[in-house]
Amino acid sequence: MVARRRTRKAAALAAAAVMMIGGVTGCAKKDTGGTTASGVALVKSGVLTTCTHLPYAPFQSKDQTGKVVGFDVALIDLVATKLGVTQAIVDTPFEGIKSGSDLNSGKCDVAAAGMTITDERKKVLDFSEPYFDATQALSVVTGHEVKTLEELKGKRLGVQGGTTGEEYINAQVKEKNLGITVVSYKDLAAVQQALSTNQIAAAVGDLPVWNEYVKANPGKIVVAAGFNTGEQYGFAVKKGNAELQKAINEAIAAARTDGTYDKLYSTWIGEKPAS
Ligand code: GLN
Repeated sequence: MVARRRTRKAAALAAAAVMMIGGVTGCAKKDTGGTTASGVALVKSGVLTTCTHLPYAPFQSKDQTGKVVGFDVALIDLVATKLGVTQAIVDTPFEGIKSGSDLNSGKCDVAAAGMTITDERKKVLDFSEPYFDATQALSVVTGHEVKTLEELKGKRLGVQGGTTGEEYINAQVKEKNLGITVVSYKDLAAVQQALSTNQIAAAVGDLPVWNEYVKANPGKIVVAAGFNTGEQYGFAVKKGNAELQKAINEAIAAARTDGTYDKLYSTWIGEKPAS
């Protein structure tokens, strides 16, 4: 009896071991991971998986066919091409992107979300070299123009939750005791909708994104003021993923040198500010 039980147990253990080995082997083959020829590990073989938070035109948004396009998408396409793979985009809340949890859990290889490089985020993400300069913009409905935050006393101001714009406004309101009600929305579309329907007196967010919205809604919305926060966007990888970080930096550097960056900039953003 005892001997038989032992044998059974041994057999069960052996079977489990085989299953585990099978499972590990299956990982590489069943597209649950992979490494490119240049030695960059990917969460899915043959694909550079990008986490982003839609919509964020002109950096990432769906075109009429439902395809996600934009400046960030085009730049990460260059990285994918360099790695010999194609880009796949995952739309996911900004919180999981900026906290590093999406990259840590293997939801994606890279985060490309018009994301500002901050010291706080640097603790949980490894950023590429900066690829875009941004500031904050105060947007209002045409005819309801205010030029300063002080004029918004007693009014509602919309921001996008979890962003640097929200942080900037909360700090200003507190520091200057502005008496503004700050309302946080879950994504950019919700802030823009709230502004267009007069649920808020103004909105604050990244300037290029509001410029794009003004272009799409001529005569309805205006950028009334800007705040020079000196922000820079970076693409992010999981902490310690030096190989992918390097590939991204190399692709950006090459694009800056060969004119591709400028071409994409004028396609997606418009005229480059004089520097
Ligand atoms: N640049 C802002 C930030 O990093 C907004 C980014 C976004 O909403 N996608 O917080």
